Amino acid sequence: MRPSKRLDRIPPYLFAELERKVAAKRAAGVDVISLGIGDPDTPTYPAIVEAAQRAVADPSTHQYPSHRGRQDFREAVAAFYSRRFGVTLDPDGEVMPAIGAKECIFNLNLAFLDPGDVALAADPGYPVYAAGPTLVGAEAAPMPLVPKRGFVPDLDAIALDHRARARLMYLNYPNNPTGAIVPDGFFEEVVDFARAHDILVVHDNAYSETTYDGYVAPSFLATPGAGEVGVEVFSLSKGYNMTGWRCAAIVGNAEAIGQYWRLKSNIDSGNFEAVQLAGVAALAPERDADVQAMNAVYARRRDLVCDALRAAGVEVTPPKGTIYVWAPVPEGFASAAAYCEHVLEQVAVVISPGGAYGASGEGFFRISLTTPDDRLLEAVERLRTLEA
Ligand SMILES: *Cc1c(COP(=O)(O)O)cnc(C)c1O
Repeated sequence: MRPSKRLDRIPPYLFAELERKVAAKRAAGVDVISLGIGDPDTPTYPAIVEAAQRAVADPSTHQYPSHRGRQDFREAVAAFYSRRFGVTLDPDGEVMPAIGAKECIFNLNLAFLDPGDVALAADPGYPVYAAGPTLVGAEAAPMPLVPKRGFVPDLDAIALDHRARARLMYLNYPNNPTGAIVPDGFFEEVVDFARAHDILVVHDNAYSETTYDGYVAPSFLATPGAGEVGVEVFSLSKGYNMTGWRCAAIVGNAEAIGQYWRLKSNIDSGNFEAVQLAGVAALAPERDADVQAMNAVYARRRDLVCDALRAAGVEVTPPKGTIYVWAPVPEGFASAAAYCEHVLEQVAVVISPGGAYGASGEGFFRISLTTPDDRLLEAVERLRTLEA
C-alpha cells in the first residue's frame, strides 16, 4: 500500500503525540484536564433537539437531500442574515447548506485552486486554511496575524508573486485562535484588495454569535461590495452547541456558490434534511435568548481564566468573542510546544501550542473555554501553582 504524494505533503498531525501522552497518563490514573479542543460542552439548545426529533420521525426527511438544500432552510438563513446582520440574501442563489464549515472550506479549495495557485491564509488560523490548499496541489501563503497589528493581516506586505497567483483568501473574525475582533475599516480594505487582484474572499464566520461585553460581530457581507468578491461560511457549530450535527451554510456571491454546488454534486449527497430543519429551529429569533445565556457562561469562564493567568504574571487580553483565550508563553521555554508539554507533565492540564495553528502562532498558547466551570477552575488553579 502506498499513500498519495498529496497526503505526504501535509505536516504530521501535531496533536497525535499529545493525544498519546494524555491517553497514557489517564491509563496511569492521572486526572488530566483538557483545555485543548474547542468543542462546546453544553448540549444543543432543547428547542433545536425537539425540532430535530420531530423531523427525524417524518419519513419525508429520509431520502437523499438536494445539494441546494431545503427551501425553508435557505429562507431561514436569509431571514437570519437580514435580522442579525442587515444583509439581504437571495435564498435561491446566495445561500446553500454545507456539511459543516470544514467541509465547505476544504471543498472551496478543490473548486477554486489549480496547481501553482495560492490561497492567502490567516496565520495562525483554522488548520484547514493551510492543509486544504496543500492537499489539492496548490499552495497556502500565510498572512501573519501579530499582536501589534491587532491580529489583522498587513495586506500591503503580501508578496507580489503571491498577489499574482492568489485565487482565495481565508479570513475569520471573531478569530480562532487569537480571539481578536475585526477593526473598523479592515473588511473594506479586503474588498478593495480582492477586487484589484481578482481573489475570492472566504470569510469563515464560526463565532459571530459568540461575543461578550456587548460586542456585536458584523458579517463580512455587510461591507459594501463584499458580495461581489466574497462568500461567508456561517457555522452553527459553536454558537448553537451543534458541532456534532454538521450544519453550516455558505452565503454570498452566487457565482462562487454555483461552482461549489457543481463540485459537491460529485462529492457528497447533501445535508440530512432533519439536520436542516434543526438549523431552521436554531436560526429562529426565539433562540437568541439561548445564545445570550450561553455567552454569559463563556464570559464568566473567560474572566476566571484571564484573572488566573494575570495572577500568574501572564499578560492576557480578555477576548470579546470566540471560545478561546490566547496568551503569550512565559519566558524560558524554547517553544510553545515545550511550554504546553511542561504544563501537561507538571500539572496534567492540556493547552494548545500556538505553533499548531501556523508559524505566527509560535510564542502563544490557547485555552479553550468549553470545559465545565468546576473543572476549568481546577485547571487554572493548577496553572497558578505551576513553577516554571
Ligand atoms: C470550529 C471551527 C470551524 C469548524 O466548523 P464546523 O462547522 O463544525 O465544521 C471552522 N472554522 C473555525 C475558525 C472554527 O473555529
